[in-house]
Amino acid sequence: MSHYDVVVVGGRVAGASTAMLLARAGARVAVVDRSAYGSDTPSTHALMRAGVLQLSRWGLLPAVVAAGTPAVRRTTFHYADGRTVPVTIRPSAGVDALYAPRRALLDRVLVDAAADAGAHVLHRVTVLDLLRDRHGRVGGVVTQGPSGRLVLPAALTVGADGLRSTVAARAGAAVLRRGVRGGATLYRYVEGVAADGYEWAYGDRAAAGVIPTGDGLACVFVSTTAERLRGLRRAGSEAAFTTLLRRVAPGLAENVLAGRPHGRLHGWRGEPGFLRRSWGPGWALVGDAGYFKDAITAHGITDALRDAELLASSLLDVLGGGSARAAGAAYEGTRLALSAQLFAATEAIAGYDWDQPRIEALLRWVSSAMSDEVNHLAGLDGLPHRSTPPTPVGVLAP
Ligand SMILES: Cc1cc2nc3c(=O)[nH]c(=O)nc-3n(C[C@H](O)[C@H](O)[C@H](O)COP(=O)(O)OP(=O)(O)OC[C@H]3O[C@@H](n4cnc5c(N)ncnc54)[C@H](O)[C@@H]3O)c2cc1C
Repeated sequence: MSHYDVVVVGGRVAGASTAMLLARAGARVAVVDRSAYGSDTPSTHALMRAGVLQLSRWGLLPAVVAAGTPAVRRTTFHYADGRTVPVTIRPSAGVDALYAPRRALLDRVLVDAAADAGAHVLHRVTVLDLLRDRHGRVGGVVTQGPSGRLVLPAALTVGADGLRSTVAARAGAAVLRRGVRGGATLYRYVEGVAADGYEWAYGDRAAAGVIPTGDGLACVFVSTTAERLRGLRRAGSEAAFTTLLRRVAPGLAENVLAGRPHGRLHGWRGEPGFLRRSWGPGWALVGDAGYFKDAITAHGITDALRDAELLASSLLDVLGGGSARAAGAAYEGTRLALSAQLFAATEAIAGYDWDQPRIEALLRWVSSAMSDEVNHLAGLDGLPHRSTPPTPVGVLAP
């Protein structure tokens, strides 16, 4: 007999959201994450409209705003010919501003909401393997934590364990689509940058951006091909960051370089995207574990919040006695339909082989894919929300 309805591996944007939605609907849920509670993770953390829409309807946006995350009411595009194109964020689908909360904040808000809903949250616990019944169906996880090995049986197991997902590997999740492009990024936090919302710049086969976040800081990034960034970094990461920023966006560069750097530079060497099969007997994937794309379109978190809702809805169907085959097909089908355009557009941008007319066309493509996503989410009814959380079932002996 299963002790949990669902065990979720990974407790950040994808996993904590899925767990919260399931627990709010009355499921008995465990969330296991090998990282520490409230820790940071590599990301420039800009949310798009669909992501803000999800936080808002889950009742979590006020906590993000109350923690000092500034509202972003304009996005400005800077191009190589010196043109700047400001786009005001018009109120729509209940969203009148965008936000870019630091991950240590956003992931904590989500995991706290999961725990408040009754999910059993375990940090600093690593999933080593999957449990399987005699038919090969996945039935929970084997973990290792500070107090030793722990077995968590569950009717359904969710891999929300990121790019290098153990659940995907152990379940043998097939790759449905594989990208070939993976841009590299350098980013850092800077105090005292005058940013009028998100600022994105494209030129010289590279991109840069300024993303206002909490504590009076802006996250500033530069991205280009991995080979080019590797070459520039031979002169040191600081020199590479400054050189690329000046080449892509001279105006932005002076603004950023006049600010006070806060902490070290963070580097990301790039990974090609993929879409994996994300549903099988007893298991499912959500977030980067099942669908990863280059960070240049700043959409991984937004998609993780979207897919958490799609997946939770399908898992609740199964827990309610519905057909697993139909629920899996609904999840895979909707997720693939909503992801295909953005995945392809991101691939094209992450190649950094465009000229100005082409990048402008690619950005219009991204914008249209984002509208489809918002329209889909805005049309959802929302999931059940019980007022009394389920009683946590406790941790099982190894
Ligand atoms: C440089 C960079 C910039 C980015 N910028 C943006 C942006 O501006 N906007 C945006 O929307 N997206 C951005 N992204 C993408 C975004 O960060 C990811 O899409 C997002 O983090 C995916 O969330 P997730 O919950 O699926 O996975 P993750 O955030 O990777 O979380 C997975 C969790 O699983 C845990 N885990 C892994 N394996 C195990 C295991 N075996 N046992 C237990 N726990 C495990 C990990 O500890 C981790 O906490 C960026 C990514 C990068 C790299």
